[in-house]
Amino acid sequence: QQPLANNKEDVIVYSPYPSLNYPNCTIDQYVWADVNKWSHKTALVDGASERSVTYGQLRDQSRTLAIRLQKNFNLKFGDTIAVCLPNSIEFPIIVLAGSEASVTVTTVNPIYTPHEISRQLLDSNATILFGLACMSPILKKSVEMTKKPIKIVYVKETPDAKIPANGIDFCELIDSRGLDLSSLTSYERNPAEDIAMLPYSSGTTGLSKGVALSHRNLVSNGMMINIDTGNGAISTPAVGDHQDVLPCVLPFFHIYGLTCTLLSKLSHGCKIIALPKFTPELYLNALANHPASVLYLVPPIILFLTHFDKVSPKHMESIKYVMSGAAPLGKNDAEQFLKKAPNAQFFQGYGLTEASPVVLMSPIGSKNFGSVGFPSSDTEAKIVRLDDPEFRGVGPNESGELLVRGPQIMLGYLNNEKATKETITDDGWLRTGDIAYYDENREFYITDRLKELIKVKGFQVPPAELEEVLRTHPDILDAAVIGIPDKISGELPRAYIVSKNPNLNESDVQQFVAEKVAEYKRLDGGVEFMQAIPKNATGKIMRKDLKAAYAKK
Ligand code: AMP
Repeated sequence: QQPLANNKEDVIVYSPYPSLNYPNCTIDQYVWADVNKWSHKTALVDGASERSVTYGQLRDQSRTLAIRLQKNFNLKFGDTIAVCLPNSIEFPIIVLAGSEASVTVTTVNPIYTPHEISRQLLDSNATILFGLACMSPILKKSVEMTKKPIKIVYVKETPDAKIPANGIDFCELIDSRGLDLSSLTSYERNPAEDIAMLPYSSGTTGLSKGVALSHRNLVSNGMMINIDTGNGAISTPAVGDHQDVLPCVLPFFHIYGLTCTLLSKLSHGCKIIALPKFTPELYLNALANHPASVLYLVPPIILFLTHFDKVSPKHMESIKYVMSGAAPLGKNDAEQFLKKAPNAQFFQGYGLTEASPVVLMSPIGSKNFGSVGFPSSDTEAKIVRLDDPEFRGVGPNESGELLVRGPQIMLGYLNNEKATKETITDDGWLRTGDIAYYDENREFYITDRLKELIKVKGFQVPPAELEEVLRTHPDILDAAVIGIPDKISGELPRAYIVSKNPNLNESDVQQFVAEKVAEYKRLDGGVEFMQAIPKNATGKIMRKDLKAAYAKK
């Protein structure tokens, strides 16, 4: 390790990208700012049914829903609604209506189990839940588990889908007939302090927490993502015939899909092809039917596009830019992918839910594939030694924890001052829980994860959550979960169990967990039985030891 030049030095890396002028507005005002320029263009297409909606229709339906949220449900400033939907036309209508009605929107993974949905409903204090009609048994069970009078609004997955008896039909809420569209109650807003969105993340430790993101956080990050990085702008506003087209398979409920694809691209008049899930057929159909100009991807989809033989050069012909984010991408994987898409300019982004999410991004067309680039506009970054209580930034080529600061950093965790204080320093730096370094050129490289979080295909799997589930098994005395490397998914969760029943076996444990959690959280990395879970003096699980023992094997 190089010594610090002097003990008080604090080396900060600033953004090389242009500083931006962020409007003091809410997310709906940001998205609709220029809508009159493209109100007749298509805003979204449902990639499964090819149903579509124009910007003008999207704007009217959002306004209608905003008024109904206030009038039919009596929602007031600061109330919370939950959206538990796959990517669809309805998703942005609900998000933007929530913003316009001055309520907070929490996003729930639509493949969650009732156990997981009810936990988020309770924690976020949501009073309305939006979900698909075909999910009604799961949605009803989730609400029942909360023991609260949460209302469910049903979105039809197909035009002929049935709304459950006495259920509230989303279609009726966006029908503006008989409604005075100027009757919205407006509150005095503070975009820098009001919570717009409440996605969930476990952060550096423990269970999932509500990440309070202000309008300012999201608007600033949406703008940072669209900028010109020196080689052209990532997305250009629709003018004349021009309209960028984005097939969106990244889920809108996750911050990467929400900010990078939905909010920032709707603000530019792009055409979004909303794909409710990833299947090779659906994705390739979308690429064939709607020649794409910009792709936001995660490494497993990059691998799919590279190696799946049905992906032809024709599918890739129109693509101008491709971004990879949410998990590490190997240098070799990026190179192989570009052989398949030679016209595309590639760049990487790094971010986290707590930062709305993007904080580092490489310039478009960068050939430094192993790097996640430079701090985004108006963002500062530093690397601090793990044992430095003063969080002083060190120089190039030294590894440590990455800290970031900028207008996109969350307000804090909802109702959790302790976790907020542990994550954001007194002078506003967010501790990312990732290990990184930067080189002489000030380009950053993510090398490891300090926090306990496991990421499967880019999705969060908090080990504490699986350990909590495991401990509810009558035969399990203690449990620990770690992530093990996996070629396709990035990582897979693996459990270590102390059991009082010698007959309990691996598949019993896997089955028990599978019934309670979403598919990607299952213990596909295996289960191992042991006498005692390794813990330190304060009772903290020594995950590093478990990981090292697994690696040795
Ligand atoms: P999430 O809050 O779900 O977006 O997860 C954020 C975490 O994903 C980060 O703290 C990193 O551990 C990881 N991550 C995100 N982007 C990248 C990237 N480009 N390279 C490596 N890890 C990443």
